[in-house]
Amino acid sequence: MTSTICPKCGKGTTILLSGVCRECFFQNFVLAQLPQVIQARLCATCGARFARGRWTDEDDIETVVLKTIEDNLSIHEAAEDIEVCIAPRQLTPHMYKAEVEVVAAIQGERINAVLSTEIRIIRESCEMCSRMSGGYFEGILQIRATDRTPTDDELATCLRIVDMTIDRMRAKGDRLAFITETIRSKEGLDLYIGSVNSGRHICKAIIEEMGGTFTESPSLFGQKDGREVYRITFSMRLPRFTPGDIISIRNRKIVVKHMEKKLTGTDLADSSRFIATEDEIALAKHVGNIRDAVNAVLVSEEEHELMILDPFTFRTVNVKKPSGFAITEDEEIPVIRIEDALFLLPPEWKKNDN
Ligand SMILES: [Zn+2]
Ligand SMILES: [Zn+2]
Repeated sequence: MTSTICPKCGKGTTILLSGVCRECFFQNFVLAQLPQVIQARLCATCGARFARGRWTDEDDIETVVLKTIEDNLSIHEAAEDIEVCIAPRQLTPHMYKAEVEVVAAIQGERINAVLSTEIRIIRESCEMCSRMSGGYFEGILQIRATDRTPTDDELATCLRIVDMTIDRMRAKGDRLAFITETIRSKEGLDLYIGSVNSGRHICKAIIEEMGGTFTESPSLFGQKDGREVYRITFSMRLPRFTPGDIISIRNRKIVVKHMEKKLTGTDLADSSRFIATEDEIALAKHVGNIRDAVNAVLVSEEEHELMILDPFTFRTVNVKKPSGFAITEDEEIPVIRIEDALFLLPPEWKKNDN
């Protein structure tokens, strides 16, 4: 084994680390460093943490303290297999102290360092909370319905979709996904939205569940620092007809199944499928809803016809037997009266009837 002399202490050694013997190397080695006092910037309202120029949502203040320490801890670049153990404790609502132990391998040798620091909590208002309290908004979402007024149920569904979408956008990091104001009017609902992006996602989510269309248009809102400030108006139009509506078009009675760009439905007379564009149903009339269905007694069943006791007139009437017709056990079948004619509900709608 060749032995050399350590230039620092003069002792014989088999290996040199950074030009000195092992003992001399570890004498001045600093594994980890941490400032004695560090600041954690926290939003007093939502608990978000400010770091590297931006606000990020955090679960609680302990997490903010831990992340602040991690950000300020510097560990020697030669360290391998690093383990860090942080034990924070709260002294006052504005101050934490923490012991930090770092264990790591350096040149195959495990060494440790114990450090302590004081964390001062600086509470301020994040950009989202100050914008929210200041009534900030980038977009207005106007929820209306085509040729009618949205029902309370529909608006409640819209608000549920709005909440879910906002939560999803916030989880994705859109901190301006919030509603500043909600105004109920005779025509529908106006929502003032923090971010244009979340407004667009809300419109798409509403259409996916309820059908309808939306357009977006910028409008001049005012001036700020000599520049024109625009806001985006989202005009959301719920469909003219909703699922379960019965419409009359060219002497056909159709139960509406879905309406987006096209309307799909079922013909009440023969259960055939109906599909039409918005232009094609321009003259369609709303004549009822499957909610108005009632049960009627089935008197007899023939090969192609059914004889039913009309629950409105108490006379027996013959109706065409739908293909795949199966009698229910109690011998009652849901029927609906539209413009003095009696129709069986198409099979797919029966389960919705109660
Ligand atoms: Zn030495
Ligand atoms: Zn905040």
